[in-house]
Amino acid sequence: MIRLARLDDGAPAIFATLQGEGPQTGRPSTFVRLSGCNLHCVWCDTPHTWYFEGTRFEHRSARRFQRETEVLALEVADVAERVRALSPRALVLTGGEPMAQQRALEELLHLLGPDFTVDVETNGTLAPKEPLTARIDTFVVSPKLANSGMAESLRIKPAALQTLAATGRAWFKWVVDSEVAVDEVKALVERLGLPDDRQILMPEGTTSAQLRERSPAVARWCLERGWRFSDRLHVHLYGGGRGV
Ligand code: SF4
Repeated sequence: MIRLARLDDGAPAIFATLQGEGPQTGRPSTFVRLSGCNLHCVWCDTPHTWYFEGTRFEHRSARRFQRETEVLALEVADVAERVRALSPRALVLTGGEPMAQQRALEELLHLLGPDFTVDVETNGTLAPKEPLTARIDTFVVSPKLANSGMAESLRIKPAALQTLAATGRAWFKWVVDSEVAVDEVKALVERLGLPDDRQILMPEGTTSAQLRERSPAVARWCLERGWRFSDRLHVHLYGGGRGV
């Protein structure tokens, strides 16, 4: 079984859209959004994957979600069939935290066979294991900073990040909202020995207006460091939300 998030209409969160962030921005992709996360970022843009009634963690939104209505467990074969029914052959496994369900994903990729390129979007706290690792084309790793509201011991796991870096297939995408955050990224990249040519800064923001306001500063920080910039295309195109 795979624990999935749901779309607004209650259907499993398996959908085709343009990738909105990271190194593959603009690529038509089939997304599978898994439910459940081992972290709890205050600004998380997918709180319906973990911010359930009864959790002791806080999120900046006022609304808590019902676990019973937000989480859907499907047979792996059912998920594979739904993925195959969509046209993009670039698969994006996202969450929540997909690396919390590695066995199920291993089975899914086995059923899908070699026709798909596979990207994983992860918070970088859980190291991927073989044989799953070998099947992933790109890891888009988004380690969390102090602006996420969590202690560093929870959100930065050096061994997992170094395992991801060692694959040679990982990009590190940092959500930044200030120069202080960029200095934090720089210190982490240096301390952990992460590859300088694989770093991406992305403005924090869930509306097009917020992103437009914050992007010029992030672009400047990218140029200063020699790092890439990522926008959030799906927010500009569709306003964010589920299924895009
Ligand atoms: S790691 Fe990602 S999915 Fe998990 S709480 Fe943070 S932003 Fe949300």
